[in-house]
Amino acid sequence: MVLSELGSRVNKALRQLADAPVVDEQLLDAILREICAALLASDVNVKLVQNLRTNIKSVVNIRELAAGINKKRLIQKAGTARASMDAVMDELCRLVDPGVEAWKPKKGRANVIMFVGLQGSGKTTTCTKLASHYHRKGWKTALVCADTFRAGAFDQLRQNATKARIPYYGSYSESDPVQLAGEGVAKFKAERFEIIIVDTSGRHKQEGELFAEMQQIAGAVQPDNVIFVMDGTIGQAADPQARAFKEAIDVGSIIITKMDGHAKGGGAISAVAATQSPIIFVGTGEHIHDLERFAPRPFISKMLG
Ligand code: GDP
Repeated sequence: MVLSELGSRVNKALRQLADAPVVDEQLLDAILREICAALLASDVNVKLVQNLRTNIKSVVNIRELAAGINKKRLIQKAGTARASMDAVMDELCRLVDPGVEAWKPKKGRANVIMFVGLQGSGKTTTCTKLASHYHRKGWKTALVCADTFRAGAFDQLRQNATKARIPYYGSYSESDPVQLAGEGVAKFKAERFEIIIVDTSGRHKQEGELFAEMQQIAGAVQPDNVIFVMDGTIGQAADPQARAFKEAIDVGSIIITKMDGHAKGGGAISAVAATQSPIIFVGTGEHIHDLERFAPRPFISKMLG
């Protein structure tokens, strides 16, 4: 189910609540069931949906009790529909807002940003998008390609960087990504670059090898921020994937890609819950400028239609 379908299903359920001649707990339960089914179909993680349902029920009940209304009596239907909508909105916002201030680069020093994520997630594309974002804002920005695993990775980064007029470092012959990353970062630090973005490999035969390489690169470049890049269209796979990366490395921020396609939004919610890190941007296309800042409330509003 795409974002707009979730919105229409949730809104239909809430309209049913508003239109009902009487609203009691039974109806509220049925509506919540429908909302939760819609969220599950949008790839929101099963456990999160269960929690959300419990939280909404308690919020709505607390309001009703606070108003001094006997539980057996009918609840003021308009108030309940409104409270339910607000509670759904608040709960979903809470899910994409870990309450952690996003990392920000500091002027006048080298800020090393390391990208991690599986191959195909959009890492290399997003590296250049973010580099271009900082470049346009006047930061002295450079890119380092430490992906020696995928043939063509350096070429891709080189072409993107050249188009965006961003200095880059990489090699066609060096096969040690740790050495490459270390050299590239040292070179750009010596040249007083302020933002140094390191692209890493996303595929290995063994996940363990990928994570070991990631940790070694992090050891060599000492990143100020690690950005986990995740494909927004992977559905329920988002939770285990984000969890695995967070366990292997100190993820600080998230970028969700391909939000222009068939992403349903649930993957983004799972990634935040699994890493307790904020989403800083979302990718909305293949072009270099297709990168949008992320804010929880507008994202959820859009999700609910
Ligand atoms: P990497 O293997 O993680 O480095 O992934 P790439 O950067 O090579 O991206 C994989 C594919 O996803 C490429 O075809 C990109 O053009 C595409 N891609 C990346 N980000 C987005 C996005 O936000 N939207 C869309 N539609 N495609 C994207």
